[in-house]
Amino acid sequence: MNDLLKVAVVTGGATGIGRAIALQFVDDGFAVVVNYQSSETAALALKEEIEAKQGKVLIVKANVASMKDVQAMLEATLATFGTVDVLVNNAGITDDTLMLRMQEEQFDKVININLKGVFVTCKTFLRTLLNSPHGRIINIASVSGMMGNIGQANYAAAKAGVIGFTKTLAREVASRKVTVNVVAPGFIETKMTAPLSETIKAQALTMIPLKSFGQPEDIAHAVSFLASAKAQYITGQTIVVDGGLTMY
Ligand code: NAP
Repeated sequence: MNDLLKVAVVTGGATGIGRAIALQFVDDGFAVVVNYQSSETAALALKEEIEAKQGKVLIVKANVASMKDVQAMLEATLATFGTVDVLVNNAGITDDTLMLRMQEEQFDKVININLKGVFVTCKTFLRTLLNSPHGRIINIASVSGMMGNIGQANYAAAKAGVIGFTKTLAREVASRKVTVNVVAPGFIETKMTAPLSETIKAQALTMIPLKSFGQPEDIAHAVSFLASAKAQYITGQTIVVDGGLTMY
């Protein structure tokens, strides 16, 4: 393996924002590990697309909330590429409903994948990342975790948790020059937001100063920057990419 090859792992990388991030990493010269759970067809198609442009790619099925699965993903990554430089925790789900209707299982499931999943991957990949000369962890949270959102008590709690987790880990690994940051998307057009009603989409649009929804590539560009040498002095931060929806 080429000593200069940098390796990025993207969880939930077969679809939506994760897919755009994986493709951006290939353009940035990284070998990329695309994790998926159920989107095998999309993962295979993405593998083909990356290989067609001479990119290096490994696709790995794993549930990010499972220590066993993620340990196997680390082993497969090291067996193929020998190292990991960047971990992007992008995998996430929603299961929206108002608090009066929210069941314990809906809360647990969203916390388990969106928050515990970030713990599991960071815990598993950390030693390897600490050995990289340019280790980076980039967690995809959400503006929901910063401003709250009706129907998303479970999701907002998980994403707010990811922000607190990020700040703590950033402090713990700073002496090793590994940076840990969050990208918080606003409303991005993917299969996660596709089922929202036209009324909700129209309402959301009225609150976005830039007057359009974001595209997965808008998030990928922020991730690409945080993974680059240009961002070496940024850690513990949240970069919000939301068309101006939230301004603090
Ligand atoms: P998406 O296309 O549904 O992507 C979510 C990805 O997460 C899927 O590729 C899915 O993989 C993966 N995933 C779900 N559960 C998993 C598990 N247990 N293990 C491994 N992978 C799992 O939606 P998206 O919009 O691109 O979302 C990407 C991230 O952005 C999420 O963290 C989401 O919360 C965040 N975000 C999105 C928006 C938005 O407006 N779209 C806004 C704020 C934040 P499979 O399909 O293979 O199961």
